[in-house]
Amino acid sequence: MAKTVGVTLSERVVAGLVVDHQLVGTLCSFPEASDDEYALVELPAEGIVETMAAQVLAAAGKARDIAAVGVGVPGLVRNGAVEEAPNLPQLKGARLAEMLAAALREAGIEAPVAIINDADGFAAGIAASIGKLDSVIRVWTLGVGIGYGRYPLTEGVWEGGHTVVTLDDKENYCGCGGRGHLEGIMGHRAMRLRFLDLEPEEVFAAAKTGDARCGEFKRLWHKALAAATATSIHLRGPGRFFLAGFNVRFVDMPMLKDYLQQMVKMSPLQSYSIEIVTDAAETRVIGAAVNAEKVAAG
Ligand SMILES: [Zn+2]
Repeated sequence: MAKTVGVTLSERVVAGLVVDHQLVGTLCSFPEASDDEYALVELPAEGIVETMAAQVLAAAGKARDIAAVGVGVPGLVRNGAVEEAPNLPQLKGARLAEMLAAALREAGIEAPVAIINDADGFAAGIAASIGKLDSVIRVWTLGVGIGYGRYPLTEGVWEGGHTVVTLDDKENYCGCGGRGHLEGIMGHRAMRLRFLDLEPEEVFAAAKTGDARCGEFKRLWHKALAAATATSIHLRGPGRFFLAGFNVRFVDMPMLKDYLQQMVKMSPLQSYSIEIVTDAAETRVIGAAVNAEKVAAG
């Protein structure tokens, strides 16, 4: 059985050895302490690559016969290079796949490296964990920004978090500066900009107790997610959608499903489902490895 290593890069580098779509042994990470969240932000691109190589070696243990290495990166990734990385700007333009492959070669591991967007890696990990590597999986991650991941990988950009969901001129809260975007309504950062006097958790708590302004926003938040999901269904067809990220705590599933039902009416498109899934580093590591194995197999 081919050995692959999956890596995810966020505030931490996490790596794991994956055999037959399952994690073998424990995850290796840097920094180890979760409170040291700025350790990576301060490193130049070369330093991040060195850190990743060290964690791949730690995950591989004594094994040198690694068939492929996959890395999930938060940002826009194409052909092994990072084109845009808002949270790790020093990676912009870095040919990460080449750099990591070279660093690993020096350490005795000769393996192709595949880089993907971290949300796509997460979608691949979900597909592997539910044993559905032959079906279409889409995932929305509801965090500081809004991520959109899809499996299987297809040529394209897929910046689903920036789907336009409103024509209202006042909707200008998206981190990218674009008007009317899903992230401008649902993103944690955008919600804090909109409600300067309330934290997002206070907004949803107030909506529960009947506050009119907060109740209206709660409906807008759910309509926005339903709209972006409906658009994805109208373009790619129905299938399984997953929701993850720290703000899934705000999801009112009956409300979301009600709006989605109002937005998707064609009968051949009704076979969709939407469910919440736990966002675990393990799932993302497996996803990055599964993708690398596919790429290596051609
Ligand atoms: Zn945007």
